[in-house]
Amino acid sequence: MPAIPSNKPYRVGRSRTGLGLFATKPIKKGAKIIRYFGPLLDSRKKKDDAIENKYLFELNGRWTIDGSVRKNIARYINHACKPNAESDVSARKRKVVIRAIKKIEPGEEINYDYGTDYFKAYLKPIGCKCDACEKKRKKKRAEARAERLRLKAKEEKKAQKKALKEAEKKAAKARRKKAAKAKVHAKGQLKAQKSQLPNGKLLNGHSQPKAARKKSAAAKPKASMRPETSATPVGVEMQAAA
Ligand SMILES: [Zn+2]
Repeated sequence: MPAIPSNKPYRVGRSRTGLGLFATKPIKKGAKIIRYFGPLLDSRKKKDDAIENKYLFELNGRWTIDGSVRKNIARYINHACKPNAESDVSARKRKVVIRAIKKIEPGEEINYDYGTDYFKAYLKPIGCKCDACEKKRKKKRAEARAERLRLKAKEEKKAQKKALKEAEKKAAKARRKKAAKAKVHAKGQLKAQKSQLPNGKLLNGHSQPKAARKKSAAAKPKASMRPETSATPVGVEMQAAA
């Protein structure tokens, strides 16, 4: 890590994305923090134009600062969408200074907006990790979680309602079944009672000896029993019985 004179208000330290530049002293709004420097590249020179790295700072159509040199401490400054510093570019002087745009407290990370081109080329594809974007992501995640919970609660309520309905349906069915059974039973009893009504006689009949009952069960209709002339076995039987 490069040595930084102790009179400077910053140090290099661990940040969310790797390394970053952090304030070690309060920095006033508008104060110059550090110069972004390196060899000047001329886009008209083929050799210069072929250079490609993450630390190129374009001043204008022709000139670019190659900030990848080790001595350029400003290259540690990370991008932020809502930064506390800015890059103050003087194309005429071919000079870039990082300046505070708000008061920066000791311990705070120093950031500036790298600009739309850099953002699109390098940050958007991997997702910007600046505080503002992290906060946005966190909020989105929290909202998604809340939505999931809400849907889950709704599903559970629905399932409960369904279960209750099922149970009610089952109970109603059971009641109906019971009632129907009771009705059949009552009918059966009624039928039995009815069939027992002329029973005074019938019962007597039933109380006949088994053999007689068998005969009467096998007997032909009573009408056929009446005529004395009938030569049916019944008549014979009856005579025999008599
Ligand atoms: Zn961001």
